[in-house]
Amino acid sequence: MKMKYRLMAPGPTPIPEHVLTEMANPIRHHRTPGFEEVIKEVEEGLKWLYQTKNDVIMLASSGTGAMEAAIVNTCKPGESVLVVNAGKFGERFGKIAKAYKMSVDMIDVEWGKAVSPSIIKEKLATREYRAVCVQASETSTAVEHPIKEISEIVRKYDQTVLIVDGITALGVINLPTDEWGIDLLICGSQKALMLPPGLATLSVSEKAWKLIENNDGPRFYFNLKAERKSLHQNTTAWTPSVSLIMGLRQVLKDMREEGLENMFKRHAVMAESIREAAKAIGLKLYAPDAPATSVTSVCTPDAIDSGKIVKALRNEYNMTIANGQDQIKGKIFRIGHLGYYDMLDMVSVWAAVEKALFDNGHKFELGKGVAEIIKRL
Ligand SMILES: *Cc1c(COP(=O)(O)O)cnc(C)c1O
Repeated sequence: MKMKYRLMAPGPTPIPEHVLTEMANPIRHHRTPGFEEVIKEVEEGLKWLYQTKNDVIMLASSGTGAMEAAIVNTCKPGESVLVVNAGKFGERFGKIAKAYKMSVDMIDVEWGKAVSPSIIKEKLATREYRAVCVQASETSTAVEHPIKEISEIVRKYDQTVLIVDGITALGVINLPTDEWGIDLLICGSQKALMLPPGLATLSVSEKAWKLIENNDGPRFYFNLKAERKSLHQNTTAWTPSVSLIMGLRQVLKDMREEGLENMFKRHAVMAESIREAAKAIGLKLYAPDAPATSVTSVCTPDAIDSGKIVKALRNEYNMTIANGQDQIKGKIFRIGHLGYYDMLDMVSVWAAVEKALFDNGHKFELGKGVAEIIKRL
C-alpha cells in the first residue's frame, strides 16, 4: 500500500478532515442572504483572530495578492517605500512596489538574521516613506522580525503605514493588530489557516484608510475602498472564494475553541521541540538568533546536500519538507509546524529526518533528537 502522505512544509499545510467536508458541500451563490450571514460570521471571527476592531478584507487570491493590495492602495507611483529584505518574501514586497513605479528603498538584512529596528528608525528620520513593509515571519529563512518594536517606531509617523506580512505568523504568534498599531496585516489561507490556497485577508487601520482615500494611483481588482463598501453590506466586490470562506468559518470556530493563548503555546512548543531535536544530533540552526515559530530551518552537515534529505523523505516516507531557496538551496531544509499539527507530527517528521541523515552518513545516536520531542509531549 502507498504510504500515508505527510505534508510538513511551511505551506500549503494539511487541512482538517471536517474542514475538507465543509468545503465539499455544493457551492452556494454569494449574493444571497444566507451567504451574507456567513460573511458576517467570518468577519467577526477574523476580527477576533486579528485582535482588531478594524475591517478585515477578504480577497480571492493567494497571499501575494494581499501584499500587492496593501502596497497599491496606500502608496502612489513615485512615493517612497521602505522594505525589509531578509529573504524571498521581503524581496517580493520590493518587486511589487517597483512594478508600480514606487521608489523602493531596501534594507538588505543578512539571511538568517532579523532586522534591527534601529535601522528603520534611522531611515524614517531621513525622508518621508509612505509605507514600511516587513514580514512578521520570513518563511524562506525561518526568521521572526521584531514587529512590536518596529510598530512603535512607525506609529510616530502619521503619513507612513506599517504593512506586515503575517502569512506564517497570524494564528501562530501573538500579533495584536490594534494594540501594536499594525496598519495593514496580511494573511493567506494555505498556512496557519489550514485551508487550500486562494483566499487572502488583510486588516486596514483608520490611519491607512486616510491614505487609501487620498490615493488616486492605479489599481482595479485590488481596490480596498470598493471592498470596504461591500464588506459593510456583508459581501465582497467580486466573486469571493466561496468554498474557502465556508472552510474558514469552520476553522475560525475551531480556533476559538482552542483559544489564542493555547494556539500560540502549541506552536511555540512544536518549534522548540524541533530546534532542540536538531541540536541534539549535532545540527546547526540556520536562524538561531530569531527563529520563527511557524517553520524551522536546519543546516545539514557540509558533506550532505539538504536536497538529498528532502528527496529521501519524499521517496521513502511520502513526506514533504522544504529545501532552502537561492543561495541556501542544498544547505538547509525547512520543516513547517503551523496550523493543523501536533507533537506526534513532530515525532514522525523528525524520525524520518534522523533516518535520512543517518543513511546519508551523518553519525549520531539514533533517536537522540526524537527524545527531545517525546520529552515535550
Ligand atoms: C506563503 C507566503 C506568502 C504568500 O505566497 P503566495 O504564494 O502568494 O500564497 C507571502 N509571504 C510569506 C511570508 C509566506 O510564507
